[in-house]
Amino acid sequence: MTKVINTINEDILSGNICFIPTMGAIHEGHLSLVDIGKETNLKTLVSIFLNRRQFNNDEDFKNYPIEIEQDIELLESKDVDFIFLPQESYVYPGEGVPSIAPSKVGSILEGASRPGHFEGVLTVVNRLFDLVKPSHAVFGKKDAQQLFLIKDMINRFDLNIEIIEGDIFRDKNGLAMSSRNNLLSQNAKLNAANIFKSLKNVVKEINLGKSFEESIEIGINLINQNEIDLDYLEIVDEENFNYPNKYSKKLKLLTAAYVENVRLIDNIDIEI
Ligand code: AMP
Repeated sequence: MTKVINTINEDILSGNICFIPTMGAIHEGHLSLVDIGKETNLKTLVSIFLNRRQFNNDEDFKNYPIEIEQDIELLESKDVDFIFLPQESYVYPGEGVPSIAPSKVGSILEGASRPGHFEGVLTVVNRLFDLVKPSHAVFGKKDAQQLFLIKDMINRFDLNIEIIEGDIFRDKNGLAMSSRNNLLSQNAKLNAANIFKSLKNVVKEINLGKSFEESIEIGINLINQNEIDLDYLEIVDEENFNYPNKYSKKLKLLTAAYVENVRLIDNIDIEI
């Protein structure tokens, strides 16, 4: 039986918890993380908290989709143990919640385009960790830079939480599932699938022997052929998010782009 809760009490904390934080407008990507969480056989706790502090743009915050009733139904259908719906005043009581600045990786890519975003993310994740006290937490690889910075925070603060990573869940056209997809028209959703097609094309060109620069150029051209407004398309070393060098073992191609003024992010691994 799923319990909907607004606060955390001793009862909930009696036993190890696998925590799956979300901002709601639950979709199959979130549900795939729930499935992963359930495999731990721990109690699963999904939080839904639209964290104002990670939005650097008021309009974006106001437009963010909210679907609480449907979210509860979807999570109950997965039989999660707890759905945690905290009030803002519970998450941020007074001045006592420490603000967590990201390490320098927090200022590139998403961090460069959305100043303060990762500080907001780390602050809420750290606060939720402190409330929920999970032994495990599941995060999606869709937010690759966020995942990197959360793992970095765990190391920096020596938190005893095991992070489990969930693969990117996509719709049948390849568009990465996102709560923001709810803001797109049907046509825009089809068009947005070109983002992933472009990522795959860049990888193909690299595998055919083209340089990173040439391959990225091809990707940019492909994106520009569609009604997609590119923010960035960049390759990083997955280990440190620096530009790759000859010692790099795992690479990632990351992008952010706007379709109908909705910001979408995606990424793909590059095998080398
Ligand atoms: P959000 O509600 O967007 O803050 O996302 C909550 C969690 O779900 C984060 O760990 C995200 O990385 C993850 N997530 C979002 N979209 C997807 C997706 N398409 N596939 C897998 N995980 C996802």
